[in-house]
Amino acid sequence: MALVTGGSRGIGAATAVRLAREGADVALTYVNGKEAAQDVVRAVEALGRRAVAHRADGGDAAEATGAVERAAEALGGLDVLVNNAGVGVLGPLESLSLADVDRVLAVNVRGVFLASQAAAARMTEGGRIITIGSCMAQRVPGPGGTLYATSKAALIGLTKALARELGGRGITANIVHPGPIDTDMNPADGPYAAGQAAMTALGRFGTAEEVASMVAHLATTSYVTGAEFSIDGGHAA
Ligand code: NDP
Repeated sequence: MALVTGGSRGIGAATAVRLAREGADVALTYVNGKEAAQDVVRAVEALGRRAVAHRADGGDAAEATGAVERAAEALGGLDVLVNNAGVGVLGPLESLSLADVDRVLAVNVRGVFLASQAAAARMTEGGRIITIGSCMAQRVPGPGGTLYATSKAALIGLTKALARELGGRGITANIVHPGPIDTDMNPADGPYAAGQAAMTALGRFGTAEEVASMVAHLATTSYVTGAEFSIDGGHAA
């Protein structure tokens, strides 16, 4: 039984389908993409697993926590939380407003903290918390990333601390750092795509499915916790 936040599109949608293929029933959240979320629900059901989608804005504290409660109720428990929902606001330092700072930190950090806290309260031994960070938490290759990198780097601390906090209960916490992945957030034919691809060792964007395969591995392995995994085509190499 797994909850994938932001599961209607991109990395989250691929992860929801991949976890279903591995045998999980899946809950997912979305904000605007109700129809896209229903497409993912149908894809999961086509694999013979149960699926539910709930609207829950990770930037709203009550909704971030409520999404975990609703998922656990709908599925009958929670074994895996994938903290995937995130927003990217990039731009020069002086252009970032207080509202930008509050929004990005609310979705990318506070919502992840609250969902992890709520999930930990419901998980039993074998629980898995997997958070989607970013290659920008490890290496910022140019200007414009102050806010986004701040938010994603915070998740490294959260992950390591969760590992220590929950290890005694047999619950693991790990973080995955995608490099440039072809999604709506960062299309492989976007204006900055060529430069991003050139920064990887493999010379290309990754796919959402490639990230999902790492998440699926972490969902099923037991002696890995507090660890960071780059799935970035060698961006950090
Ligand atoms: P997309 O923009 O393609 O998809 C985002 C998903 O998150 C959608 O399902 C969207 O729902 C949902 N979402 C957005 N805001 C919220 C919110 N406030 N609360 C709940 N759900 C929300 O993004 P990606 O798949 O590219 O990114 C997924 C994660 O991976 C993010 O955390 C991102 O920072 C990270 N990442 C992405 C990289 C990339 O190159 N693509 C690189 C490194 C990290 P809806 O359909 O309703 O809008």
